[in-house]
Amino acid sequence: MPKFCCYQYSSWYNNFTGLREIIKGSNSDYDGIAEYKVGMTTGHYILPSLLSARILFGITFFIALLIYKWRKRHWSMYECIEIYLQQNNLMPIGYSYREIKKMARGFKDKLGEGGFGTVFQGNQRSGPCVAIKMLGKSKGNGQDFISEVMTIGRIHHVNVVKLLGFCIEGSKRALIYEFMSNGSLDKFIFSKEGSKELCCSQIHDISIGVARGIAYLHHGCEMKILHFDIKPHNILLDENFIPKISDFGLAKLYPIENSIVTMTAARGTIGYMAPELFYKNIGGVSYKADVYSFGMLLMEMASKRKNLNAHAEYSSQLYFPLWIYDQFAQEGEIEIEDVTEEENKILKKMIIVALWCIQLKPADRPSMNKVVEMLEGDVESLEMPPKPIIYPHETVVDDPRTNLDQTISSDDYSSSYDYVEREPNSLIENIA
Ligand code: ATP
Ligand code: MG
Repeated sequence: MPKFCCYQYSSWYNNFTGLREIIKGSNSDYDGIAEYKVGMTTGHYILPSLLSARILFGITFFIALLIYKWRKRHWSMYECIEIYLQQNNLMPIGYSYREIKKMARGFKDKLGEGGFGTVFQGNQRSGPCVAIKMLGKSKGNGQDFISEVMTIGRIHHVNVVKLLGFCIEGSKRALIYEFMSNGSLDKFIFSKEGSKELCCSQIHDISIGVARGIAYLHHGCEMKILHFDIKPHNILLDENFIPKISDFGLAKLYPIENSIVTMTAARGTIGYMAPELFYKNIGGVSYKADVYSFGMLLMEMASKRKNLNAHAEYSSQLYFPLWIYDQFAQEGEIEIEDVTEEENKILKKMIIVALWCIQLKPADRPSMNKVVEMLEGDVESLEMPPKPIIYPHETVVDDPRTNLDQTISSDDYSSSYDYVEREPNSLIENIA
């Protein structure tokens, strides 16, 4: 060490020891008091500060962990969907929320609203119109979103609406579909003001298109896709009135060989839901649940009215399927005003097929392939089905707790309706 350094060090050391001596000399009880002071300082200031620092650190760590877990869950869901789509060479485009906002032009053009979200019109960067469905706070862990992307994201059929893209950013979830300029079928069959009247053959063509679409979902893909929410609002029409099945939020994928499926929740729309979703002992839940919903839809297409109409002119017409069956049974014919003979034949065919589809027991209903065949064939070759049996849920009229047109989940309906075990015979209830 250089000399001047040595000197500096020893002078500093001497000063320090001197100071200690002065303090020590000024108080003979130095050791005890000093220790007491150190103890007091530690007890009063250091320990509480250490404790609060630890608590603060613990809380921060806990919050960070929660945020990490939450983000991981959301990201893993996102990644899971992306990986799946990549593996299957299906890639609806993933968009950021900013891009969606731009596409939707500030969410000004609202096309409609359903139980799961609001649909807006927008434009893709490349120009064509799109429909953007902004999903609300998910009722089931984002399951509706995953179902939609996993099902229509993987198939292409002329009668199934195309999913063009999706967005998942935090709690914001959106689905982008091809735009269907004629909107949904309900407008045309329940003749809303200002909507175009569809002629009988157009309605018939639409019904065949929908039947082909469902048949493809059931029998034409590598997995069986059950829709569980077939109804007029979920049938969209393009500019040429080609029908496209939409809304796969409740859809489920099953291996082809699974004839009966397990359902943890009964979901759908009152009036279109198959009885086996409510009642045990009728038969297991299968693709026949979609056949039932299609039958209800077909009946409404043929009659251009709701199957259950509380405001019907005669009480006998309250529930259309039973009324029309009795008409057939008594007259052997159906009387429809203002239609040609040819149109009468078409409507009769649609009604007979619908009556087959809404049979109480799933086993008595035809498959969708058979339905397509029946709708394309001659009415003369059709046999009359047994009289349909209705079950109490079909008679729910104007229940203020339920928006009858909207999809419900079992969470919504369990408070109003019970899933019960009953013998089919106890369901026989003719309200006509
Ligand atoms: P639910 O939620 O019970 O299925 P819903 O079918 O009426 O009810 P959404 O599926 O959210 O609800 O659709 C709302 C409306 O938005 C539809 O009825 C239709 O008029 C319109 N719409 C949905 N998708 C498109 C689309 N791709 N092109 C044009 N309009 C659409
Ligand atoms: Mg819908």
